[in-house]
Order: sequence, then structure tokens, then C-alpha cells
Amino acid sequence: MIIPIRVPATAQLHTEGGIRQLGPGHPLFSALCPACGSHLEDQPITLVYIGSHPEDRKESGWMTAAAVAVHAACAGLSTTGEHIQVTP
Ligand SMILES: [Zn+2]
Repeated sequence: MIIPIRVPATAQLHTEGGIRQLGPGHPLFSALCPACGSHLEDQPITLVYIGSHPEDRKESGWMTAAAVAVHAACAGLSTTGEHIQVTP
């Protein structure tokens, strides 16, 4: 469930893994972007960090966390250029 919230227009988010174009065999290919509601297959995507289980949190280093896939453009990232990776 996606919960709409009001945020400052200058709100920042945290993305991971760069920008990727999903291939037809990817499990998220026909999923919907939670930000705009259209299919993820239509445009390059990125992963937005949304939180972590309290037991997985650390003071430093790396930890396991959760993310949702959204269109890179919906996350405010530029989708022009050669930096887009293809994920089969
Ligand atoms: Zn979108």
C-alpha cells in the first residue's frame, strides 16, 4: 500500500543502484511505479530506500534495507545519457 503524504517541495530522497532499464524477463517489468501508477517497463527505473528492520541497523558500514522501484524520472533523476544500465 502506498500512502500519499505531503512533503516540502524541496524534499530529498535517497536512491541506490543507479538507473536501469528493465528487460522483459525481469520480475518488476510489468509492475506499476508507485509514484505515477504507470508500468515500470515504460522508462528507466531506480530503487528508492524506504527503511530497514531495526535488527539490521548498524552505527556504520553497510546494512540490509528495503527499497521500492520507481521510474528514475519520478525520483527526480535525469534519464538522458549513457549511464543507464540494462537489467535483463
Ligand atoms: Zn513513475
